[in-house]
Amino acid sequence: MPITSWKVGAGGTARATASMLDPRLIADLRAARRVVVFTGAGMSAESGIPTFRDRLTGLWAQVDPMEVATARAFRANPQRTWDWHVQLAEAVRAAAPNAGHAAIAALEQAGPEVTVITQNVDALHHRAGSREVVELHGNLLRLTSFVDEEAAFAAASPTICRVCDGYAVWEHCDPYAERGDLAAIELRAGPVPRCPGCGALLRPDVVWFGEPLAVDAIEAAWNAVDRCEVLIAVGASLEVEPAASLPWRALARGARVVEVNPVPTALAAQCHAVISGAAAEVLPALFAAIWPER
Ligand SMILES: [Zn+2]
Repeated sequence: MPITSWKVGAGGTARATASMLDPRLIADLRAARRVVVFTGAGMSAESGIPTFRDRLTGLWAQVDPMEVATARAFRANPQRTWDWHVQLAEAVRAAAPNAGHAAIAALEQAGPEVTVITQNVDALHHRAGSREVVELHGNLLRLTSFVDEEAAFAAASPTICRVCDGYAVWEHCDPYAERGDLAAIELRAGPVPRCPGCGALLRPDVVWFGEPLAVDAIEAAWNAVDRCEVLIAVGASLEVEPAASLPWRALARGARVVEVNPVPTALAAQCHAVISGAAAEVLPALFAAIWPER
């Protein structure tokens, strides 16, 4: 498998990018009708989002992740976990999509059907205008009820709350509460809010350590990968399964795979091209090189 590898610095241009790509690969990418862009923490780093798994900087340097980002931590101390996520939410609200997010959103206008599969919980792809986004690890700014498996198991006959879809094991249900009442509650400083319907504590709708991915999200990701002709992996560490195997799944099905990452991963030895650089610089140049008529 031919491998193209180069670095794009701050001065990277579409012309330079095109000259470095194998012409046959450019032709394959240009002919693609379905493209998957798979993004990880590196995608959001230039927007100033503290990365979830980077223990050296940002919010993760101040805490042990096991004390704020697990179901066990929330059960033991809901307020501490909530307060920590409020800090992260403030960072997300203060951030803006970068040129890489914008380039991905604009790619839809170039013709191919684009599905974004992201490990990020910051919703920056949505804010940039991407329409088809699979959020593997959830969305920080969306809330859901905390389903305490132990309490649900202990309850005599748990029912499903029609507002939050969680197990309603609380007694003070509000029969008039609606889903809109839940959607109106935000991840803000203050006491941990409760579901307006069943009274269950609310939590950010993200995948904490030790929790499984949502089945519908991983199935949507697999479907998109199985249908794509091109997969571009951007800033993903590829350490966490099952997300990490998505590029290999695409390769096994014959798709062209390109990695964009300041620090290439194990994928680099297998994929069709590797571009060492930051997403905000590389993606606009790469897309302009592949789809210049856009
Ligand atoms: Zn509820």
